[in-house]
Amino acid sequence: MSTLLSIALLSPPYTNLTYARPAWLPGSLWQTGMRVAVPLGKSGGLRVGVVMDADAPQAPEGVEIKEAMWPLERVPLLTPEYLEMVRQLAVRHLLSAGEVLGSLLPAGLRTSQVRLRVLGSGKPRTLYLKEVAKASLPERTHLGEAWATGNVEVLDAGFDAEVQEVCVVTQDPPWPVRPSAKRQIEVLEYLWDNGAVSRKILLGQCGAQASQALNALAERGLVAVGPLESLSSLACSCPVQTEEDADALLPMHDAGFVLTPAQQEAVDEFTGALDSEFPETRLLFGITGSGKTAVYLELAARTLQRRKSVLLLAPEVALACKLERAVRAALAGSDVFLFHGYQSAAERERTFRALASREAPCIIIGTRSALFLPVPQLGALVLDEEHDGSFKQDERLVYQAKEVAHFRMQQVKGLLVLGSATPDIKTFHAARQGLIPLARLAERVGGGTLPDVELVDIKGLSPSDGLLAPKSLAALKDVISKGEQAVILLNRRGYAPLMYCLDCGTVARCPHCEIGLTYHKGRERLVCHYCGYATPYPVTCSSCKGLHYLPMGEGTEKLEEGLVHALPPGTKVLRLDRDSTRRPGRMEAILEAFGKGEAQVLVGTQMLSKGHHFPNVTLAIIADGDLGLNLPDYRAAERTFQLLVQASGRAGRGEKAGRVFIQTRDPAHYCWEFVRSADYEGFFDEEIRRRERRRYPPFVKLALVRASFPIDWEPGAGWLDSLTLLAREKGKASGVLVLGHTPSPLPLLRGRKRFQWAFKGQDWTSIRSVFHEMRVAAPRDGKLRLALDIDPVNM
Ligand code: ADP
Ligand code: ZN
Repeated sequence: MSTLLSIALLSPPYTNLTYARPAWLPGSLWQTGMRVAVPLGKSGGLRVGVVMDADAPQAPEGVEIKEAMWPLERVPLLTPEYLEMVRQLAVRHLLSAGEVLGSLLPAGLRTSQVRLRVLGSGKPRTLYLKEVAKASLPERTHLGEAWATGNVEVLDAGFDAEVQEVCVVTQDPPWPVRPSAKRQIEVLEYLWDNGAVSRKILLGQCGAQASQALNALAERGLVAVGPLESLSSLACSCPVQTEEDADALLPMHDAGFVLTPAQQEAVDEFTGALDSEFPETRLLFGITGSGKTAVYLELAARTLQRRKSVLLLAPEVALACKLERAVRAALAGSDVFLFHGYQSAAERERTFRALASREAPCIIIGTRSALFLPVPQLGALVLDEEHDGSFKQDERLVYQAKEVAHFRMQQVKGLLVLGSATPDIKTFHAARQGLIPLARLAERVGGGTLPDVELVDIKGLSPSDGLLAPKSLAALKDVISKGEQAVILLNRRGYAPLMYCLDCGTVARCPHCEIGLTYHKGRERLVCHYCGYATPYPVTCSSCKGLHYLPMGEGTEKLEEGLVHALPPGTKVLRLDRDSTRRPGRMEAILEAFGKGEAQVLVGTQMLSKGHHFPNVTLAIIADGDLGLNLPDYRAAERTFQLLVQASGRAGRGEKAGRVFIQTRDPAHYCWEFVRSADYEGFFDEEIRRRERRRYPPFVKLALVRASFPIDWEPGAGWLDSLTLLAREKGKASGVLVLGHTPSPLPLLRGRKRFQWAFKGQDWTSIRSVFHEMRVAAPRDGKLRLALDIDPVNM
């Protein structure tokens, strides 16, 4: 055994460094997979790292090797299998292991603000690690002995409840708050956009003077401030529900029902795979309302019976919470964990630790980030709504959950089930080729039939008529008069998406992104939907100083307002979008109220198309069916098809038949024929033909290389040109076609200019190697940032 440790740093510079086992601790206490504190640089400041290899090879001659400082646990948090996953991710994304771990581990597991509690004779004392670092060698040795005998413990880092104060908005604020209270508005805007935030982070962001504003807001009851535990029900968007509430949201009295033959067949097939040596991937292709959830639950039960864990992933927090309730109802008595991004950092840390130290199988339900939990005995993984774009993470560590899931399940020889009514074209292509065996649920359970879909041509509709064609409005009134319900999908939030200056014709734009600002009437603000920039309205026009803006177009807020006037008195309209659901618990409240029939109409963005089950909805109106078709993305038709079939799937799920109206200015588009009959396979055949002809995935691999630099950085343009030349030349040699550079769809974001190249090639390896050459050639001062986005979701 060497005496050296190879350690991945979890904060910049994120490198892998070699450290020596220190003299003050028995060498055997350092193990692979452990989190440890190590000194870095001349100042010797402490960093947290993970031991990637406790038996590291000798470092090169002449490199000075420091001693590691202290282990942060006795039993390694991470298993060799987990570290292997990290290594593979790092290779795939050309990152260091530290960068990967830095984005996978909850924040509390990465901080070096750690204290040790020393027990033994007399009163226990606590000391910070940095004090240990300054202590004399005999003192450290003394501590080391105490550690070895179990007389020193590590206190949880910055996240113990009594230290951590969290702020959260408690009610929809009465926008606008007095303009004189500028700080208060700032604090409120920040919390509104970021959810529950620790006081320290908030003050770090809004300045120390914000402290007073925060107190004032707390006094008015607009913001709650307190220890995490007391706020956790507020801070989590998914409050614990009573049995009765849960039933209202989830019409799944499943203790009772028997699986249909199709469901049974799917379960048997998956179980067979589970019991085989290499279960690999399966597709559950089931139309909307065909009862896919019941299949997942039965599969989960059988996996647990085999003493293996199950991971269930949903594309959205609300759906994950719904799935969790279904699991708790159906599999009472099993150990269930929920994990998603709306939970507080402390909650996520707790789950991570609990799983890491656990051996017994359990069920974990979550959104994409749950994929990286250290699940014990992982046996089956379900990705529900596998086509959904939110399984792709675009920021920091860019990854496609499906890809990681595939590789993770290969690693543990477990079963991966992808479920959808409208699978990703790539997934279905693989199924057609026989690479992914497929189970079908071709009918709705309980006799519900697929809705009747009609196209409503709105070419001639004048903007002053509002968004709904007379025909759609008539159908809506008819549904309401019968005591039934309707949903209206409009994938554009806010009041008006464009603000024109009537005096000079200038459009109001975000100063950071150049994107048009959206008017939010309830907030009396113009908001940038990309960076969150918000400015009070009215504002003066940036070019002529005029004050007369004309709101153009229509968002969900305006649609909701218009409907209240257009529909019979007494009709209640609810709205579901990111604005109406920001406050914790609001989304559940809206869905629940609508589920109980407290409103007749629910207006919403794509949030509303996913997974919800409202038996009394007999009409779905798609207000602007064309919205997605004109996107500059080869998947525009696929995404539109998926969104509309899913949205249509909300109608007619009960006993009464449903109808869907799709409003369009382009009734001849090939997509509609298939949407109308919810004919996924018909659509697939047409789409795959087009992709083959135009050389798009799945026939080639497609990647984007994104570049950005500060607006005022002059060498930027020159670098883009030379990198383009380099990429073309290297690409030619390895069969990669390099297109661009072109400005990104958001050419300016947060003060940086953004460009992109599209790479088309036959395999990822050659694409990666061209990117690698670019990165090697690029300047290293950090001005120019380059990132590789494999299989991009947002072109
Ligand atoms: P999907 O996810 O495929 O759209 P769901 O799983 O939401 O469909 O199921 C739709 C409805 O059918 C739910 O209310 C569910 O409880 C019910 N259901 C599922 N399977 C059965 C069954 N075998 N017998 C009766 N009802 C069922
Ligand atoms: Zn902006």
